[in-house]
Amino acid sequence: MPGAATPCGSTGSIRNCSTAPASAASIPYLDFSENARFPILGGLLQRRGGTARHDAVAWGLARGADRLGVDIIQNCEVTGFEREGDRITAVQTSRGTIAAGRVGIAVAGNTSRVAGMAGLELPIESHVLQAFVSEPLKPLIDGVVTFGAGHFYISQSDKGGLVLGGDLDFYNSYAQRGNLPIVENVMAIGCAMMPNVRRVRILRSWGGIMDMSMDGSPIISKTPIDNLYLNAGWCYGGFKATPGSGWVFAHTIAEDRPHAFNEALSLDRFATGHLLDEGGKGPTPKLH
Ligand SMILES: Cc1cc2nc3c(=O)[nH]c(=O)nc-3n(C[C@H](O)[C@H](O)[C@H](O)COP(=O)(O)OP(=O)(O)OC[C@H]3O[C@@H](n4cnc5c(N)ncnc54)[C@H](O)[C@@H]3O)c2cc1C
Repeated sequence: MPGAATPCGSTGSIRNCSTAPASAASIPYLDFSENARFPILGGLLQRRGGTARHDAVAWGLARGADRLGVDIIQNCEVTGFEREGDRITAVQTSRGTIAAGRVGIAVAGNTSRVAGMAGLELPIESHVLQAFVSEPLKPLIDGVVTFGAGHFYISQSDKGGLVLGGDLDFYNSYAQRGNLPIVENVMAIGCAMMPNVRRVRILRSWGGIMDMSMDGSPIISKTPIDNLYLNAGWCYGGFKATPGSGWVFAHTIAEDRPHAFNEALSLDRFATGHLLDEGGKGPTPKLH
């Protein structure tokens, strides 16, 4: 926003801010002082970026699928697969056996467990990621503010609660709850970046399980089993990808070959060494 008034002149911590593309005036609550723990030297603004209410998105996709004739069976756990040679013939569930010509797995944090039922061992680790919601406040944050030295992000929900989070808890787990060191870490980054949140009360937190792939990129692919397909490895970012990933996954299952968009996201890249985004996450998620 060229020419926008900014607080940078008074702190001197941002150079050439009158021509900076992102306006510090639009986020005046950040600590722009030179003494900040991580002084702000610049920023990026993605004007088309935003947030979406994730449960409403899931309901919308479910309604759309239902209208197209998809049977959605809720509260039904997959407990095993029936196999004949290299083919799955049926899926065993807590509500009975379902015969199947083709089977797709998209179970995020439970990927290794469910694929294991079909005899597959995958290059995926399951880790906890926590998120936090504060008491409701009047409108403060427009969009999402994130911080390059970690995974910290903060936004505000329609109901006024600040929604924030950071890194994984950094140990393998299927427990959908996190531990205090990450609570402290996320709050410390939040307070350092945005000092006015220090007195805000956190109302609740939760932990979800992330399917961390070894190169930080997803897998949308055929598998060594003829009629079994896999959509997994979304790490921190599978929500925003849902419409596109579902679309190319449906194509992969229907055509029995990947769409051009997901060709590189094959499972066998971990065997051939054609990894994607190697710099992004490192050979183990805890190194990223
Ligand atoms: C705290 C947190 C914050 C996040 N923030 C973001 C974000 O800001 N942006 C973003 O893009 N992504 C974010 N993510 C990641 C995103 O939520 C996931 O990548 C995404 O939900 C994965 O979608 P999915 O459909 O593959 O799996 P899920 O949405 O996890 O759905 C998998 C389903 O499979 C079911 N399932 C598991 N095992 C079985 C079984 N044996 N039988 C039957 N069903 C089974 C589960 O019950 C679940 O309903 C976040 C995740 C967490 C935990």
